[in-house]
Amino acid sequence: MTRTNLLGFTLPELTDWFGGIGQKPFRARQVFRWIHQRGAADFDAMTDLAKALREQLRELAEVRAPAILSEHRSADGTVKWLFDVGVGNGIEAVYIPEDDRGTLCVSSQVGCALDCDFCSTGKQGFNRDLSVAEILGQLFVANRRLEELAREGLAFRLEGAGEVSSPRPVSNVVMMGMGEPLNNFENVVNAMSVMLDDHAYGLSRRRVTLSTSGVVHQIRRLKERLPVALAVSLHAPDDELRSRIMPVNRSYPIRDLLAACNEYLEVAPRDFITFEYVLLAGVNDSPGHARALAALLRAVPSKVNLIPFNPFPGSAYRRSSPEVVTRFRNILVEAGYVATVRKTRGDDIDAACGQLAGQVVDRRKRKVIPIHQEAA
Ligand code: SAH
Ligand code: SF4
Repeated sequence: MTRTNLLGFTLPELTDWFGGIGQKPFRARQVFRWIHQRGAADFDAMTDLAKALREQLRELAEVRAPAILSEHRSADGTVKWLFDVGVGNGIEAVYIPEDDRGTLCVSSQVGCALDCDFCSTGKQGFNRDLSVAEILGQLFVANRRLEELAREGLAFRLEGAGEVSSPRPVSNVVMMGMGEPLNNFENVVNAMSVMLDDHAYGLSRRRVTLSTSGVVHQIRRLKERLPVALAVSLHAPDDELRSRIMPVNRSYPIRDLLAACNEYLEVAPRDFITFEYVLLAGVNDSPGHARALAALLRAVPSKVNLIPFNPFPGSAYRRSSPEVVTRFRNILVEAGYVATVRKTRGDDIDAACGQLAGQVVDRRKRKVIPIHQEAA
């Protein structure tokens, strides 16, 4: 008999499952807290449960997160894990410590089918959606592992520590790892609802950000179901260029995307949308592009996050020079925008934006693309 993996359940689902084995809802809550707040995977550790219930759970259920295949720690404190998700597939998650927060960048799919030209994950192809247990498992394992490392005096030392209000190392989640989260809608929404649940991680909607390449009808669904903070990967100020580097734009042009963003703001936890813009030398980084972007975004309350391109093996693009990045940013700032340049973190371990490659058995091309050479 296969055991039921309790890591994949929201609290209402767990409560139902407990009902099915003749147990009261408050028992489900207790177990839910043990798993997500205390990081317990072993029912015997759940000492306030009756022995008979623990035995019943041991027989019927398990708490199974994906196993860590490798762990890399960057000089800047960033930690990257490669997780085993079966039959040759691996996915990555990245922890980024900052002064006042610890952010975990979480993957939603094995690869990505949207094939943006500048993205390492996109170039890997696509295998499958991640399950709720695999998405939450990244958070579950990261918290446990970071606590372990902290006890050993390694990694995740937050400068200015003490200001982080979170009881666990991960205080913020960004759905910005491998995959297009809105193309794995149900699983991503269920996983995020556990992140927000006060009986689990208790993160506020402001502390969970979903980044999308702009799957417009799914942005509308997210608005109805679970409107967390939204980041949109724009990367070009006009449809012609955007369609060239992001094929998804052919289905969802910029005008429709911005309209969906405005609707989303009616319920969003913040009063702006973050637009991400990766700067590709000679492609989308001229003063003309910056001015066109400034004009375009008049339509939506926005902040702009400029991302210097992070190269990966075989990539055709180059990073814009610091002068070009500054010039681009200044044009936006002079036009009245809050525009920041994303700090490149963990690039010594290939953990920066767009560098997550994991290990994807591409179902379309039927080949295994290995992870990068192991870093030291
Ligand atoms: N699929 C989602 C979320 C994952 S990608 C999305 O596209 O938004 C997270 C961010 O990294 C996106 O803004 C993406 O465009 C950006 N990105 C992808 N490849 C990159 C690269 N090589 N260098 C810098 N940023 C990159
Ligand atoms: Fe997929 Fe996002 Fe990469 Fe595009 S940038 S290929 S949507 S992961």
